[in-house]
Parts: sequence; C-alpha cells; structure tokens
Amino acid sequence: MPYSARILDNALGAVGNTPLIRLDKIAAQEGLQCNLLGKVEYTSAGGSVKDRIAKRMVEEAEKEGRLIPGQTTIIEPTSGNTDKGYSVIITLPNKMSLEKEAALRALGAEVVRTPTEAAWDSPESHIGVAKRLRDEIPGAVILDQYGNINNPLAHEYTTGPEIIEAVTNTPSTAEQPSSGKVDVLIAGAGTGGTVSGLSRAIKKSHNPDSVIIGVDPKGSILAVPESLNTPDAGSPYIVEGIGYDFVPEVLAREVVDVWLKTSDEESFEAVKKLMRLEGLLVGGSSGSALSGALRWLHSDEGKHVAQKKGANVVVLLPDGIRNYMSKPWFLKMALEAEPSPLANRIATILQKA
Ligand code: PMP
Repeated sequence: MPYSARILDNALGAVGNTPLIRLDKIAAQEGLQCNLLGKVEYTSAGGSVKDRIAKRMVEEAEKEGRLIPGQTTIIEPTSGNTDKGYSVIITLPNKMSLEKEAALRALGAEVVRTPTEAAWDSPESHIGVAKRLRDEIPGAVILDQYGNINNPLAHEYTTGPEIIEAVTNTPSTAEQPSSGKVDVLIAGAGTGGTVSGLSRAIKKSHNPDSVIIGVDPKGSILAVPESLNTPDAGSPYIVEGIGYDFVPEVLAREVVDVWLKTSDEESFEAVKKLMRLEGLLVGGSSGSALSGALRWLHSDEGKHVAQKKGANVVVLLPDGIRNYMSKPWFLKMALEAEPSPLANRIATILQKA
C-alpha cells in the first residue's frame, strides 16, 4: 500500500518510497527515443537518498544491541540523523552547505566542521575527528556509512526494488512503449552505497544484462580504470555528496560497468535543465548523474540505447535544492538568468504607471 494511504507512526515511515518520474522534455530536447526516468529522492522525509541508510544502519544496530536510547551518542562523518532519542554528533567538511548544518542543528544534532582539504586518514578530517570524539565520549558509536554493509543493503532492499517495481508495473503502450526492464541505471558515487546496492538489486534478480553507470566528479579517485582519475582535472570540486580521496569499503567497483567523470559546470548546467524543463528542484549531484547519463547516451557505446524505443534509462537524483539555496552556483543560476521577453514587458508596464 502506498504510504500516503494510511497514517504513519512517525517521520521514519516517510523515508523512501520515492517517485520514478519521466523526464520527457529533456529526452525530447536531447533527441532521445528511450525513456529517461528520474528517481526523485528529495521527497523522502529528510530530503535525501541518505535517509534510507541512516534508518537502516540505526535499526540494524538497535537489533544488535549496539545502541541504547538515552545513553548512546551516535557520531557520523557527513550525513544522517533520526528522531529516536539518541544524542547525535555530525562531523561535516567545511565545503558542505550551511543549509545542511542548519537542518541538522534544527533536528537537535551537534555539528562539528572540519577542513575540507584534510586527507581522509588525517586526525583533522571529518572521519578523523569523528574517531577522536568516539574514543573520548563514553557510549559513543560510529555506525560508519563507509564500511557498514547496511548502507548498500538499504539500496539493495529498498531503492532498487522500488525502481524495479515502478518499471515492471507500468504497462507498455503505443504512446509510451517500455521494455518492462531497467536497461540502464546511472548513479553518482560518494560512499558508493547507492550504486553498489542498486547494481546488485537490478542484476541479481531483475536484469543481469543491465548497464550500471557510476558517476565520479573530476578531482575524485573512485572511477575505474585509474587512468580516468587524473589529479589535475577539476580539483577541488564544488558539487557535494559525491567523490572521495579514498575508496570506501562499501563501494563494490566490480559491480559498476562504466565510470564517467563529471565537472562542476556540466553538473550545474544539468541541474538547470531539471529545474527549467521538468520542474524538479534537485541538488548538484543530481545534475552530475543526469549529465553523465546524457553524455553516455550520446556516446558510441550508448547511442543504440538512446535510439531504442522503450529502453528504460533510470537516473538517480539524490537530493533537493533545499540543501543548496545559499550556494553561489545556485544563486547565480537562479538570479542571473538572461532577461526574458516577459521581464522586459513587466518593466515597461511598471514604468508606465
Ligand atoms: N549525492 C548526495 C547529495 C549525497 O549526499 C550522497 C551521499 N554521500 C551521494 C550523492 C552519493 O551516495 P552514496 O554515498 O551512496 O554513494
């Protein structure tokens, strides 16, 4: 039953169950015959794909007896917060938006900022600081999204099946033909939990021939082959949530078929497309995923899919613009748009008065 059809016990009930939405206007503009579909994660309770892993990591740790409400302090580098009676400390690199810090503080978490440029294994990094705090605070735990199997499992058990269900439940019609399968899946990688879990969900039980594409920002080192990760290319990048300077344990690089590197410019250009053409208020890494998808669909490798009626190409859109409203890249895009004929008309009318 869709969750909107019943009363939920609390906000955790509104995590996940996100819509899969046709991106027809972008597809038309790009000359695509395939179905371009966006999995829109900002409708989840906390506004992000990461709600799913926070929920699962906490619930599984509770089952294992690792967490005691009222006593345990949960410390996590980067994201995650729930309303379950734990004290929460989030260590967050400086580059991450003020909106994220404000939202976490509003939920009652402590937020500790760390230098963005600190290497992941230095004591000053968001990971290093989290460990130092854990070692000093009695009853503190780090659930560790980088090494916790419940991160990719959250996607293998929820995000993936939701996508498969939406695709298989939607009938193929003359106007909207469908292969009935997920043919291509594109997702950005940070911890890599999303792309790894989705690949397993789709390849194991649905379509072993699907193409799984991982997107990694220029300046990061997650892509394979290693030669893609040229050190000078685009470092440091502004886009948040994807890319790292180490390969997290939960990233299963062997289940990703193709890696693409994306720049900030193309990511933000693609965000604009999603907003202007589709009315989807997504964040920067959604633009990275879309720009990777479009580049692949126009490549020699992908163009046969692009021209195949009914092929389903799913792009994972991890969060919403709410997290980035004060970022210069967004304000520039939103406020410095070319004057439209309508703006000129408004100015003329108001001058007359
Ligand atoms: N986009 C955003 C905005 C994120 O916060 C994250 C999580 N770091 C990702 C993409 C990538 O997800 P994952 O960690 O599962 O690779």
